[in-house]
Amino acid sequence: MILDKNSYVLFDGAMGTMLHTYGLYPGQPPEVFNITNPEIVEKIHRSYIDAGSNVITTNTFGAIRSKLESTGYTVEEVVAKAIAIARKAAQDKYVALDMGPTGELFEPLGNFTFQEAYDLYSEQVKAATLTGNVDLVLIETFFNLTEAQAAIQAVKDHSSLPIICTFTFQKKGRTLMGEDVPTVVTKLKEYGVDAVGANCSLGPKEILPIVEAMVSSTDLPILIQPNAGLPIIKEGQTLYEMNPEEFAQYIKTISNMGVKWFGGCCGTTPEFISSIRDLLNV
Ligand SMILES: [Zn+2]
Repeated sequence: MILDKNSYVLFDGAMGTMLHTYGLYPGQPPEVFNITNPEIVEKIHRSYIDAGSNVITTNTFGAIRSKLESTGYTVEEVVAKAIAIARKAAQDKYVALDMGPTGELFEPLGNFTFQEAYDLYSEQVKAATLTGNVDLVLIETFFNLTEAQAAIQAVKDHSSLPIICTFTFQKKGRTLMGEDVPTVVTKLKEYGVDAVGANCSLGPKEILPIVEAMVSSTDLPILIQPNAGLPIIKEGQTLYEMNPEEFAQYIKTISNMGVKWFGGCCGTTPEFISSIRDLLNV
């Protein structure tokens, strides 16, 4: 792994919720902004670098064929553009290719298969490796092990990039599919990831028991990227109201549990990253 397990590494915060503040409307694929508003995506990346991020994540969470079809853009052009923007903003820092879930319902609950997911992810990874400008892959916000395995396999078959895979857990410490933390991290290690973690869904307070379970069930590096608290629905809008200082305090608690890699998910901004940097003296 290019990142040191025993050193603090700051990832970035949210991209999607940041883009909404810059005019992305609900339901519009955020990845389209790589083509239509590259200067905004670059500005967000730069603000994370300025805040202290050592790794920034490309705006490619949903850059797979099934999700881009309606936009008229191809996976190749969206992924290449996203990586070019991130590379330019990152300078000497690392660029992680971001990969998210397909959003499809897998067998036996639905009809979607491992092979279909593998094919979508292979296309995304091939487009990324063609650029030669990615340092690692972040497979994030997953909750289905079959889907994660398809994504991990696609990365391994089409690149030699290090892989971090983070899962989303519910308050009771299980994924939406019902799997607990030890099961998830054991399987992910079997699939060949270089690091594991938890992101999204919970705030930094609610994620503490997940962190505890993760630390005691794996020797792999762990990345924790909580949301800015629990979501609050106001006038039909989803808001996150935890402030950066409070968030950073929880991250400090998490660091005392043995975790070294942090970032933020929904609702977090560059101020959240700089608050962590200041509090941990990174
Ligand atoms: Zn999130």
